[in-house]
Amino acid sequence: MISMDTGLVKVLGPKTAKAMADQLALHTVRDLLRHYPRRYARRGEMTRLDDLEVGDRVTVLAKVRTVHTRPMRQRRGSLTEVTVGDGAGSMRLVFFNNKHPHLRTGEWGLFAGTVSRWQGDLQFSHPDCHVITGDDDDWARALVPIYPASKDVSSWVLQRSVKMLLTDGRALADALDDPIPEPVRRRHGLVTLAQALHDKHRPESMAEVERADERLKWDEALVLQVTLAARRRAAALEPGVARPRRSGGLLDAVDARLPFSLTDGQREVGEELAAELARAQPMNRLLQGEVGSGKTVVALRAMAQVVDAGGQAALLAPTEVLAAQHARSLAAILGPLGRAGELDGDPAGTRVTLLTGSQKAAARRAARAAVADGSAGIVVGTHALLQEGVEFADLGLVVVDEQHRFGVEQRDALRAKGSRPPHVLVMTATPIPRTVAMTVYGDLETSTLRQLPAGRGGVSSSVVPAGEKPAWLDRAWARVREEVAAGRQAYVVCPRIGDEEGAGGGKDDDGPDDADGAPPEEEKGGDRRPPLAVLDIAEALRAGPLTALRVEVLHGRLPAEEKEARMRAFAAGDVDVLVATTVVEVGVDVPNATVMVVMDADRFGVSQLHQLRGRVARGAHPGLCLLVTEARSSSTTGQRLAAVASTTDGFELARVDLETRREGDVLGAAQSGRRSGVRLLSLLDDEQLISEARAEATALVESDRGLADHPELAAAVAALAMDERADWLQKA
Ligand code: ADP
Ligand code: MG
Repeated sequence: MISMDTGLVKVLGPKTAKAMADQLALHTVRDLLRHYPRRYARRGEMTRLDDLEVGDRVTVLAKVRTVHTRPMRQRRGSLTEVTVGDGAGSMRLVFFNNKHPHLRTGEWGLFAGTVSRWQGDLQFSHPDCHVITGDDDDWARALVPIYPASKDVSSWVLQRSVKMLLTDGRALADALDDPIPEPVRRRHGLVTLAQALHDKHRPESMAEVERADERLKWDEALVLQVTLAARRRAAALEPGVARPRRSGGLLDAVDARLPFSLTDGQREVGEELAAELARAQPMNRLLQGEVGSGKTVVALRAMAQVVDAGGQAALLAPTEVLAAQHARSLAAILGPLGRAGELDGDPAGTRVTLLTGSQKAAARRAARAAVADGSAGIVVGTHALLQEGVEFADLGLVVVDEQHRFGVEQRDALRAKGSRPPHVLVMTATPIPRTVAMTVYGDLETSTLRQLPAGRGGVSSSVVPAGEKPAWLDRAWARVREEVAAGRQAYVVCPRIGDEEGAGGGKDDDGPDDADGAPPEEEKGGDRRPPLAVLDIAEALRAGPLTALRVEVLHGRLPAEEKEARMRAFAAGDVDVLVATTVVEVGVDVPNATVMVVMDADRFGVSQLHQLRGRVARGAHPGLCLLVTEARSSSTTGQRLAAVASTTDGFELARVDLETRREGDVLGAAQSGRRSGVRLLSLLDDEQLISEARAEATALVESDRGLADHPELAAAVAALAMDERADWLQKA
């Protein structure tokens, strides 16, 4: 009895099974049936020999034109030259010593090998051959599936093996349990799994292939969404601690002290959070909001509610610079309320405590003590805070700021802290396309702040094509001088720090982040000059166009105290121009800064550029962002930059970003999509399908009997969970 989990060794010859396992990572019947054809060749137009390039490993369908066998000149033995053609082109096949099947003029065959060139002609030497005979029903098919093949497993070996399983292997067809429940199939007009696999591997028409694709994508989407829905449900069932709102406490005092009134969006999201914190199930929420939309205040108000209810709140920032800035601005907003226990503190308040790895031992010890005894109600630090085993008296809320790659795994680790998991709020300014929110963040509820506080100057952006129009770069520096003359400040951002030990060596830790929206690898090219560096550019600016200004540098290699001091000096207006790496990318808040010049802008990803320019849209003065690049304006890169310059709608940009990146990058899977369980589903194109699958998954998981009536689906979900290869789910 064959099932999906049967090893291929049991159903195929041992040699074939071993080759499939070693070269294509196909181990079970399921693996093989999910190894889908890459495309389908129509009889007659199957291969275009004129499309071949040297080095291609391909299977071609062609007709034998001539066969010549002759003795070799230099050596003993014979050489057979066969010319084959397909109407579009021709190629030569060579075989030594008659080691070839008996090929006759006029016969059609499938030939697989690596294309080489010899005396100007394309050739295969010793290709695998499959002569098509008149009674071969595979050949009679209108559409011949072409599979991703390997050295010893050709496309037709795969085709034959699949055929054997699907048509000859009656036992399997009957055993093909369908993970998608019948009512779900009916509602969405989906064919059965057996039908879909048949249609995908042995279609009569492309319409059948499309029908199969739709169904097989549903498999992927549903299993994924059930997994996520189950996580949401499990999290919701965990016993947390209710932190209901209390009037007359810190929250009211904060509201009374705010120098502005909340936007409608802030108010709405605030209500949502307040209600969720008041429940005993831990909140798990993602707050996305444009850069400058005022997420910090929303977070502070949630933290104040938790403090009022007797708990502690932790605010985690991605960098120490940001953590320090957060601690400073929270302290400023709270005033005496943030200094309870100190001489001038308000006893009704709490203490804001900064806790980072670079603090001096004594300060650190004191901070840890305040966190442990509960006198620090609000603790600010970096993500390391959670890993270092810092003890909290009663951690009630964790706010994770500006971290769109805070994956499931980290969130799980967090929930595992203490006996009762805290509420969690993840905040990001990088707009997340809906499909990504539904998958990578599928276990979180989301809120969105779309509105910016009134009275913002906004930011306009331009591309400065330094290669095509060098004079424009001079103009850019002139603009910087003008802004500084008007009392404003500027950032100049470079992709690299410079002055690396062992020049040309390792990557800077705060350069553009490849995994996160940097341009696709193929655009980077291997032989480009190294990216512009902070240290070099700062020197050139000091010596040249900005010589009269106060120029300072900021990057990740500086000691934390030095970074902090320079950031402070910039915030205080004692520095005119800050030349920096992407350490200024997130959250840095200096409203008086109005210009940003991004050098080598093409080296940054779309969402990164959007984040960066958010730094100059924070005050009442209009901001300006200049994207300097040597990329040609007509190139893909040039167009991507133009797209960034033309809109400030983060959601539109998220889409541009998704379009210019490979799917695997978005899923965070360095490993190929084939291994992640997602083969056919596209985050870009299948939004509708994913959202329908999400609704079905939620309904299934939350039904009385859960998956109890759907053992096949439960098994598929379990298989995904077991599959360590599905770790892209963790590492978003
Ligand atoms: P982000 O969402 O990018 O983290 P911040 O929370 O840093 O944005 O807020 C940006 C700036 O806007 C801060 O200086 C903050 O004090 C200010 N701000 C926040 N909410 C309002 C509001 N409702 N009205 C006016 N200014 C606000
Ligand atoms: Mg922020």
